Amino acid sequence: MSGSRGERLLAAFAGLDLPEAALELAADEPMARHTTLRLGGPADLWARPADTQALGLLLRRAWALGAPVTFVGGGSNLLVQDGGIRGVVVNLGRMTAVERPAPDEAPGAVVVAAGASTGKLLKAATEWELGGLEFLGGVPGSVGGGLVMNAGTYLGEFTSVVEEVRSVRVDGAAVLREHAACGFRYRASDLPADEVVVGARLRLRARPRAEIEADVAGLRARRREREPTGVFNNGSTFKNPPGDYAGRLIEAAGLKGRRIGGAVVSPVHANWLVVERGSGCRSAELLALIEAVREAVAVAHGVRLELEVKVIGEAR
Ligand SMILES: Cc1cc2nc3c(=O)[nH]c(=O)nc-3n(C[C@H](O)[C@H](O)[C@H](O)COP(=O)(O)OP(=O)(O)OC[C@H]3O[C@@H](n4cnc5c(N)ncnc54)[C@H](O)[C@@H]3O)c2cc1C
Repeated sequence: MSGSRGERLLAAFAGLDLPEAALELAADEPMARHTTLRLGGPADLWARPADTQALGLLLRRAWALGAPVTFVGGGSNLLVQDGGIRGVVVNLGRMTAVERPAPDEAPGAVVVAAGASTGKLLKAATEWELGGLEFLGGVPGSVGGGLVMNAGTYLGEFTSVVEEVRSVRVDGAAVLREHAACGFRYRASDLPADEVVVGARLRLRARPRAEIEADVAGLRARRREREPTGVFNNGSTFKNPPGDYAGRLIEAAGLKGRRIGGAVVSPVHANWLVVERGSGCRSAELLALIEAVREAVAVAHGVRLELEVKVIGEAR
């Protein structure tokens, strides 16, 4: 059979019973286009369904073909390796509704699709004068990725506002999880890797717009002072170990400014391992820097840092 692996997989998705616009498919799509690090080799098949019907058909076809499926949101916490991702990479960036169902019956309830950006969700809540999401100020990415990561800041995290999460399994079956079954904890959850989160129901509380905006502005100002700009990044690279800060440990080990190729330990914030623009950096260089930092911190402090960033795909 001729063509690349991605082209052959694309051909296997022909003939789904859907209008063409309901499912965008691209073979051999460079993941560097879809990650904030601007790193990563090609996805065999990049798929963007417009709605849950298209998502269901896509997943069932992938299941029937035995093709692996990976879910990617805003790509703001991903380090995709240089060899790219085998199988189908699903992105819900076309499923972005944020709704406020019957405010009289369910005050504070907000229903959000997983593909909505955290910025869109925060903006809608602010306009409705609903507080609880102020912690999202300056946190990029999608709601789906935010739920899986239990993203947050010192102002809070997703767990504090989630009532239930809706997912679809790779075999196409729908799953509804109450908050308690989501296993939210520091920058992690029990939401399984073989399910795609499609949406959530949140519970917010009435709060004057001016108060929400003041908290968000304060968070953003604090971030501007402490975070590097002008470089590609994923935010924090490592989780903070219990009772300490990864950035403090890395800085104390003398690693600020350490580099491998175009990957650098930011001189501004030591827990941001960043990629210099125009450096031609590859994922392998950043991964090598991550390992070097881990090793040096273990030697200096006896602490093994755990990655916050998710490494996916294959090495070249
Ligand atoms: C400048 C910058 C600042 C940041 N600051 C913060 C911060 O303050 N706090 C913080 O917590 N994080 C921060 N981050 C990290 C990142 O923004 C968060 O982890 C974010 O929630 C990731 O969302 P995403 O949509 O980009 O997910 P992705 O990076 O695309 O994916 C993250 C994980 O979620 C999974 N996933 C994504 N969508 C779905 C879905 N629909 N269904 C199932 N699985 C899915 C992926 O498979 C992957 O395992 C920052 C990143 C950057 C670049």
